[in-house]
Amino acid sequence: MKPELVIIGGGLAGSEAAWQAAERGVKVLLYEMRPNRMTEAHRTGDLAELVCSNSLKSKEITNSHGLLKEELRELGSLIIKIADKTAVPAGSALSVDRVEFSHLITEAISSHPNIKILREEVSKLSFEIPLILATGPLTSQTLIEALKGIIKHDLIYFFDAIAPIISRESINMDIAFTASRYDKGGADYINCPMNREEYERFYNALIAADKVNVKDFEKIPYFEGCMPVEVLAERGKETLAYGPLKPVGLKDPRNGKQPHAVVQLRQEDKFGQSYNMVGFQTRLKWPEQKKVFRMIPGLEHAEFLRYGSQHRNTFINSPVLLDTSLRLKDENNIYVAGQITGVEGYVESTAMGLLAGLSAVINMNGEEFIPPPETTATGALLNYITTETVLKFQPMNMNWGLFPPLSVAIKDKEANRERLARRALKDIAKWKTQLKIF
Ligand SMILES: Cc1cc2nc3c(=O)[nH]c(=O)nc-3n(C[C@H](O)[C@H](O)[C@H](O)COP(=O)(O)OP(=O)(O)OC[C@H]3O[C@@H](n4cnc5c(N)ncnc54)[C@H](O)[C@@H]3O)c2cc1C
Repeated sequence: MKPELVIIGGGLAGSEAAWQAAERGVKVLLYEMRPNRMTEAHRTGDLAELVCSNSLKSKEITNSHGLLKEELRELGSLIIKIADKTAVPAGSALSVDRVEFSHLITEAISSHPNIKILREEVSKLSFEIPLILATGPLTSQTLIEALKGIIKHDLIYFFDAIAPIISRESINMDIAFTASRYDKGGADYINCPMNREEYERFYNALIAADKVNVKDFEKIPYFEGCMPVEVLAERGKETLAYGPLKPVGLKDPRNGKQPHAVVQLRQEDKFGQSYNMVGFQTRLKWPEQKKVFRMIPGLEHAEFLRYGSQHRNTFINSPVLLDTSLRLKDENNIYVAGQITGVEGYVESTAMGLLAGLSAVINMNGEEFIPPPETTATGALLNYITTETVLKFQPMNMNWGLFPPLSVAIKDKEANRERLARRALKDIAKWKTQLKIF
C-alpha cells in the first residue's frame, strides 16, 4: 500500500482520524509505538486505550459533554459508536467496558482495507505527504525534541493524575450502597457513606500521607479538572465534602439520612467486577493509598486492581501555532490532533481527531476546509484552541462558556441549554452537508 496520509499515534484522536480518512478512500499509514514502547500511563498495546476513568461523561444534550458526543454521532465517529456499543450502567453518564472498547476499536482499525498499522516509535517528522500528529499528552521524548525543532516553541507541561480501581468483591456492601445521585438513571454507583467523625479521621490521614516526590517537576501546575484528591484536600478541611465527596442527593439506607460525605465508585467493566474511585486521582505512594483509602467505610478490605498515579500532560500553544484546519501555520503538511492541541478529555480529543481527519481529506482533495460553526460544541472547542482569546493558553474541557450566548436568553438555565443544544445540532447537520464528503 502506498500511503497518502501518515498518522502518528493510535490513541483516541489518531484512531478516529485514521477511520475518517480511510472511510473516504484515503490510504492511511498509522504509527503506534505500543506495545513495543509504552507510555507512563498505558497498559496495553490496544488502540484508543482509556488511561484513567472509563467514563465519557454525560449522555444528556443539555450537558455540553453530552452535546459534543451527540454531534460526533451525527458525524459518524467510530469512537462514539463503539462507546455506545460497549456501554456499562453509569446513570446519566456514558461509561464503557474499557477492555472491550479498545479491543473493538483495534479490530475495526486493523481490519480496514485502507489502513496499515506500524508498531514503531516515530522520532522524526517528515513533510513529504500529509501527516497528522496525534501522539497525546504522553508523546515520547524523542518526538517532543523533533517537534520542538519544527515549532520553535517550548511545549507546555501540566500534571495529570489517575484514580485507583478496586475489585467489586472486596467492597463491604453491608456499609456501601448502590444509588445514583438524586436517583437519576439507575442505582449505578456504589456509595461509601461517611459520618463527620469518619470523614475527619480520613481527612487527617490523607493530609499526612506520603506522596510521590515531584521535586523535578515542582513548578509544573496541575490541570484543575484532574486535581489529585490530596492536593484538593489541602485547600481546606471541607473542600472534599463540597467537591468529589459531596453527599447531596444520596441517602444512607441504614438510617435514611444524608451522610456527611460520600465516596462514589463507578463501574469499570461490563460485568461489574471492578470499580473506579470517582475523583480519587492521586499521587500518594501505593502503600499509603492502601492504608488511607481503606479507612473509607465499606473499603476496609479493598483490593486495589490498579493504584492511582500521576503523569505529565504535554500540549502545544495551539492558538499561535495552528490554523482552523488544525494545520501548523508554518508547515502546511502537518496537522495536529487530540489532547496535544490543548483540549482536555477523551471526547474532546476524539473530536479534534475527527476534525483533523476530515480536514486532511478535504485539503488533499484540493478544497478548503470549512471549520464547524462556533455555535456547535465541536466548533466551539476548535475555536478555543485556534483563536488567541486568552492571555495564558491552558487545556480546556468542553463547557458552555465556550459557546456564543443566545441572542435572547431566558431565566431558566436548563431551558437555555436545551436551546443552545438544539441550535448546535441543527448547525452541525447543516455544516455536514456543506463539506460534501458525507
Ligand atoms: C494520566 C492521564 C489520565 C487521564 N485521565 C483522563 C480521564 O479520566 N478522562 C478524560 O476524559 N481524559 C483523561 N485524560 C486526558 C485525555 O483525554 C487522554 O489522555 C486521551 O487519551 C487523549 O487522547 P489522544 O488521542 O490525544 O492521546 P492518546 O490516547 O494518549 O494517544 C496517543 C498515542 O500516541 C502514541 N505515541 C506517543 N508518542 C509516539 C511516538 N513517538 N510514535 C508512535 N506513537 C506514539 C501513544 O502510545 C498513544 O497510543 C488523561 C490523560 C492522562 C495523561
